[in-house]
Amino acid sequence: MSAPGLFDTHCHLDLPELAAELPAFLAAALDAGVRRILVPAVEAARWHGLLQLHQQTSKLKLEVALGIHPWWAESASEAQLDLLAKLLQTESGVCAVGEIGLDFALVKTDEISTQQMHQWQQTIFSAQLVLAAKAGKPVVLHHRKSQPALLAELKRQQFSQGGILHAFSGSQAQAYAFLDLGFKLGIGGTISYERAQKTRETVKKLPLSALVLETDAPAMPLAGFQGQINTPAQLALVFQQLCALRPETPAVLAEALWQNSCSALQLPA
Ligand SMILES: [Zn+2]
Repeated sequence: MSAPGLFDTHCHLDLPELAAELPAFLAAALDAGVRRILVPAVEAARWHGLLQLHQQTSKLKLEVALGIHPWWAESASEAQLDLLAKLLQTESGVCAVGEIGLDFALVKTDEISTQQMHQWQQTIFSAQLVLAAKAGKPVVLHHRKSQPALLAELKRQQFSQGGILHAFSGSQAQAYAFLDLGFKLGIGGTISYERAQKTRETVKKLPLSALVLETDAPAMPLAGFQGQINTPAQLALVFQQLCALRPETPAVLAEALWQNSCSALQLPA
């Protein structure tokens, strides 16, 4: 069986940079071989729009995750968490909880308010992990300088639904810490940068079953495209970069990446 195409497991189609010309970006992605895109939410105000995206039918299937991104944690409320719990029960099209996580690279003007903000991120992350477990959904994780804290919370809650560690970068040991908890690793434009030697070496050697592709568009442009808006069509270039690093043939890689994505997100292949 051959893969139907490429799966972008992390693309913010609802953010203004992409939403402004969505049909054109989707047509270009389809031309580039992309057949499925997961759009993770960043804030509650956008959940309704994402549910509408999911209902669009075309050759390019749009999947959605609902959640509150750590950058938006400060404006998160109990009412939003209650709404998330309800939507996870009633909206069968929501495949995962995301984008959730911890961003300890985010700082405020002073040490105390930075600590308070990180603590609040922890509270919101922890609550969303509980909701994901209750709903039996995987999660899409955001991390910056926070891998140990994410792992500690996943273990404390004995979270067993897995999901995707988005924008993986790091060593084999860092990779296996998440693989051992049932996660796959989102591989994006980072591997196109010569300076990302450690991550490139890690990605070369990991089991194929560990990997999924992502663009993180409109963010994270590939090497050579800095300063430009990243788009889902660029997934084809991320795939080419991965093919250059890996021993498998492109056909074998494509098939495995498709299966890995569907299995991490508990979607039918
Ligand atoms: Zn994201």
